[in-house]
Amino acid sequence: MDIKEFRKHAHDFADWMADFLENIESYRVMPETKPGDIKEKLPKSAPEKAEDMKNIFSDFENIVLPGMTHWQHPSFFAYFPANSSPPSVLAEMLTATMAAQCMSWITSPAATEMEEVVMEWLRQMTGLPEGFTGVIQDSASSSTLGALICAREKVTGFAINEKGFTCGGIPRMAIYTSRESHSSIEKGAKIAGYGREMIRKIGVDEKYAMIPALLEEAIRKDIEDGIKPASVVAACGTTSSLAVDPLPEIGEICKKYDVWLHVDGAMAGSAAILPEKRYLLSGIEYADSFVFNPHKWLFTNFDCSAYYCKDPKHLIHTFSIDPEYLKTDVDMKVKNFRDWGIPLGRRFRALKLWMVIRSYGIEGLQKKLQEHIRLAGWFAEQVEAEDDIDLLAPVDLDLVCFRYNKKSRGLNESELEKLNKKLMDALNSSGEMFISHTKLGEIFTLRMSIGGTYTEERHVRAAWNRIKDTMKSLE
Ligand SMILES: *Cc1c(COP(=O)(O)O)cnc(C)c1O
Repeated sequence: MDIKEFRKHAHDFADWMADFLENIESYRVMPETKPGDIKEKLPKSAPEKAEDMKNIFSDFENIVLPGMTHWQHPSFFAYFPANSSPPSVLAEMLTATMAAQCMSWITSPAATEMEEVVMEWLRQMTGLPEGFTGVIQDSASSSTLGALICAREKVTGFAINEKGFTCGGIPRMAIYTSRESHSSIEKGAKIAGYGREMIRKIGVDEKYAMIPALLEEAIRKDIEDGIKPASVVAACGTTSSLAVDPLPEIGEICKKYDVWLHVDGAMAGSAAILPEKRYLLSGIEYADSFVFNPHKWLFTNFDCSAYYCKDPKHLIHTFSIDPEYLKTDVDMKVKNFRDWGIPLGRRFRALKLWMVIRSYGIEGLQKKLQEHIRLAGWFAEQVEAEDDIDLLAPVDLDLVCFRYNKKSRGLNESELEKLNKKLMDALNSSGEMFISHTKLGEIFTLRMSIGGTYTEERHVRAAWNRIKDTMKSLE
């Protein structure tokens, strides 16, 4: 494809993109695709000869598009959002076009320096204390893995980095996190070499937040048994219910026993840009590291995870590599973000965040989040007013946990699970909305997560009506 053709297609694609977003409601949220449907329609091997973009695009429209789940659909209420926005998409076009590899300062000075600047903007916006330094990572999962590796190297004085696990004298190390915390912590514990058995799942209170006294008990017991407490991973907003672990108490315990505190605020962290929600981060000054995802609830395309740490020197010592072919004359004067995380190669991710923040302004972003929170509050009120629906967790942000519970029938847990699964499947297979589920303790729970860029009150009202109608149809 020559540049002349590229220009023409780029204009056509831009029109398609605007049409898509304008008409997003005309699509099903979840496709009707069955496993294997798409593969069946795609050739088994790559084409020998060049193909025309017209034909390629037509396959995109006819094969790919009908098999997509539409995360930008205003009635997407499942999981957490991966919201995007027009300025973010425009920035991604520029990023893709320049296609710079931003591993070192020299490989794209503007990318590195803009990343420093927007991470500092975001630090101020969320009220994170001065002294935290930010870097953009690809996901909360790899940020947490990075934190667990930093903790491991702190405990062992960099022995594992230098000599490996089997060098002798390495203590057994434990990680502490609540029963409700995200699966990425378990994954991180496996990859970083702690082992799944060394994760202590701490009990939670009635709001699903970690109980600090149980944390301290577990730490003490490990110390008695000769096990070294390496890291506590606290949740600022769990995935199941957005429960917030009590950071001030947990922080005191970490300080007392000299344990690395990593705070996972993947979803809820964005809400700290609201002055009235700043309490979410109270106690964050105890943290050694903190992550949240602008690619979840701050209108910035995946991937964009904001990772903050207190001691970048420790982070760099843990991750830096210094082969001859990467050395430059300015290494002492600049940041080389390749040394701040796991991959060497890095996309120019700061650009989209910069364009989003400038395009909405802090005020514009705050208004969007406040509206999501208001709508979740409205939805929770409806749930509470309805005899046959239980509200299963406190609603402070944009997530409502609930279940259908026909009280007069006196159903047991497993019958309730079946009933709610049936309700969820009926709602989702309608194509009109999409919600997901979790388990809170043993309770099968439906989750209504309201954080879409294009979600308005009418979508939430329609979802509520559909839920009630579908409940009736299950009678
Ligand atoms: C979504 C989520 C994660 C994982 O985020 P990725 O960026 O997809 O790795 C981790 N922790 C919590 C609490 C989450 O909600």
